[in-house]
Amino acid sequence: MAKPFSKTLDLIRLFQKLRPFIEPYRLMIIGTLLLTFVGALAAQVNALLLKYTVDEVAALTKLPKPMHQGVQLLILISAILIGKELLNIFIQFGQKFFGEKIRINISSELSQKVIDRLLSYKMAFFAEDDYQSGKLQTRIDQGVSSLTKLIQNFFIDILPLFTNAIIALIIMFSANFYVGLLTMLVVPLYFYVSAKQAKKLSGVRRKLRAQREHKNNGLLNLIQSISVIKSFVRERYEGKKQYDIQMELMDSQLETRRTNFLYDGIKTFIEQIGIVLIIILTVYLVLSQQITIGAIMLHIMLFSNVSAPIRQLHRIYDEMNDAFIYAEGYFDILENDEAIEQSGSLPMNSKHITFSLQGVNFTYPNGFQALHDINLVLEKNKTIALVGLSGAGKSTLINLLCKFYSPDSGAILLNGTNLNKYENTTLREHIGLVLQKNHIFKGTIEENIRYGKLEATTEEIILAAQKAYLHEQIMELPLQYQADAQLLSGGQQQRIAIARLFLKDPPILFLDEPTASLDAIATEQIKKSLDAIKQDRTVVIISHSLSQIIDADMIVAMEHGRIAETGTHATLYQQQGVYRKIFDAAARSLNLDKMAETLL
Ligand code: ADP
Repeated sequence: MAKPFSKTLDLIRLFQKLRPFIEPYRLMIIGTLLLTFVGALAAQVNALLLKYTVDEVAALTKLPKPMHQGVQLLILISAILIGKELLNIFIQFGQKFFGEKIRINISSELSQKVIDRLLSYKMAFFAEDDYQSGKLQTRIDQGVSSLTKLIQNFFIDILPLFTNAIIALIIMFSANFYVGLLTMLVVPLYFYVSAKQAKKLSGVRRKLRAQREHKNNGLLNLIQSISVIKSFVRERYEGKKQYDIQMELMDSQLETRRTNFLYDGIKTFIEQIGIVLIIILTVYLVLSQQITIGAIMLHIMLFSNVSAPIRQLHRIYDEMNDAFIYAEGYFDILENDEAIEQSGSLPMNSKHITFSLQGVNFTYPNGFQALHDINLVLEKNKTIALVGLSGAGKSTLINLLCKFYSPDSGAILLNGTNLNKYENTTLREHIGLVLQKNHIFKGTIEENIRYGKLEATTEEIILAAQKAYLHEQIMELPLQYQADAQLLSGGQQQRIAIARLFLKDPPILFLDEPTASLDAIATEQIKKSLDAIKQDRTVVIISHSLSQIIDADMIVAMEHGRIAETGTHATLYQQQGVYRKIFDAAARSLNLDKMAETLL
C-alpha cells in the first residue's frame, strides 16, 4: 500500500540512498540552487516595481507639469523590466538546463547501476518468484522513472516555486505585518484542499495506470493469439472483453477529471477569497494612511507568488508518493547483497577434466529438494548420458556442475579441487552449454555466432557454421550472415548454438536435450556435428534419443532426484531396472517392429 510521504524518516532514508547518485553532481547542484535563489528574487521585481510606479505616478499627478519627470520614470521602469527579463533568460535557461542535466545523468546512472548489479547476481535470484523477468523489468522501470521524476520535481518545480513563495512571504511581512499574517492564514486552507485533492487522486491514478497496462497487454495478447481466436471463432467474445476494459478505463479517466475540475475550482475560489481579503485589508490600510496606494498592487502580486506553488501541490504530492513506493522496489533489487554470485580465486586452465560428486544434496530456493545424495564420477574425456523421466533432476545436475547453484551439502570436485574454489569466469570459459532451446539474441546471424568468441574472424565464424551444418542454409538467405537470427527456424537456431560451441571450443560440454525440438534430418545432422566435437572432451548429455544414449561411455539413470543406476548400455539393459524401462518405452514409441519390416 502507498505510504504517505509525510513520514520524515522515509524522506531521510530515501535521500541517504540517493546520495551516492547525487554526490558527483554536487557543484552543478550548488550552481542550480544559486540560480534558483536569484530567479526567486527576480520573480519579485515586478511586484516591487509596480508598487514603486503607482506611488511615484500618484505623487507626480499632484505636480503642475508631471510629464517631464513621468518620462524619466517610464524610462527607468522599462529599463529595469527589460533588464530583468534579459537576466531571466539566462537564469531560467541555466536553472532548467542544469536541473535537466542532473536528472538525465542520475537517471542513466540509476539504470546502469541496477543492470550491473543484476548481472552479478546468482541464478537463484532469478529463480525467485518475485524477481521473474517481467516483474523485475516493471519494478526497475517504475523505480527509475519515479526517482528521476522526484529529482526533476525537486530541481525544476518544488525548489524554485517554494523559494519564490518564501521570499514573497518575507517581503509581504516586512512591507506590512498584518497583510503577511492574513496570507499566512489563507495559505493553510489552500494547502488542506490541495492535500485532499492529492489523496483522492492518488488512488484513482494508480488504478488508471493498472488499467492502461491491462489494456495495452490485452491488445498485445490479442494479436499474439489471433490464430487461436479465429479458429475458435471467439472474435466477439474477445471484442467484448476489450470493450469492458475500455469502459473501466473511461470511468477512471472521467473520475480523475471530475476530481481535478472540482478541486481546481475550489482552489481558485479560495485564492480569489484571499485576494479579496487582501484588497479589503490593504485598502483599509491605505485609507487609514498606514501604507501607500502602490502597496495594494504589491501585496496582490506577492500573494499570487505565494499561492502559485500550492496550486501544483497535489501533483507534487502524488509523484513524491510514487517515488516512495517504487523506490523501495528499486533499492530492494539494487541492494540485495545476498544475491551476489560468489566466486573462488583459483583460475581454471585444465584441458582434461574429471568431475566427482560426493554426497550432493540440493534444494531450489522455493524449498523443493531436487537432488538427493548424488555420488558420481564423470571421467575425463568420456561421454556420460543422463537418462530419466522428466523432472528426475538431470538439468539440475548440470546447473550445479556449471556452478549456477551450489549444493546444500556434499561436494563437487573438479580434478580433485572443490568447484567453489575456482573462479567463475575461467571455469565457465571452459564449459560449453547447449540447451533444448537456446537463446538467440536480437541481431544478425554473424553476431549470434560470434557470441561464442567475441574476437573471432569472419573465416572462423564461417568455419564454425560449416561444422554445424548451417553455412549452406545461411548462404541461401538474401542477407546471408547479416540476416536477422531471430527469424530462423528452431533447427537453424539450434545450429547457431552449436556453431557458438565450435567457436568457443571448450573442454567440457553439457548438452541438455540438444535435439529434442528438431526434425529427423536436423537431428541427424546435429548429432554428426556433436559427435565431431565430443572427441577428447568431458561430455554430459541429457537425451531421449536412443542413438545418443547408446553411444555414451557411461549411462546414469536418475529417478526422483537420485541416481538409480550407472553403467554401460549393455550392463544396464540386463538389469531390468529404470534404464531398461525407459529404453524399452522409447524403442516401442519408435514402432521398431514395423520399422524393421520396412528396412529389411
Ligand atoms: P529434468 O531435467 O530431469 O527434467 P529438472 O532438473 O529440470 O529435471 O528438475 C528437477 C525438479 O526440480 C523438477 O521437479 C522441477 O520442477 C524442479 N525445478 C527445476 N527448476 C526449478 C527452479 N528453478 N525452482 C524450483 N524447482 C525447480
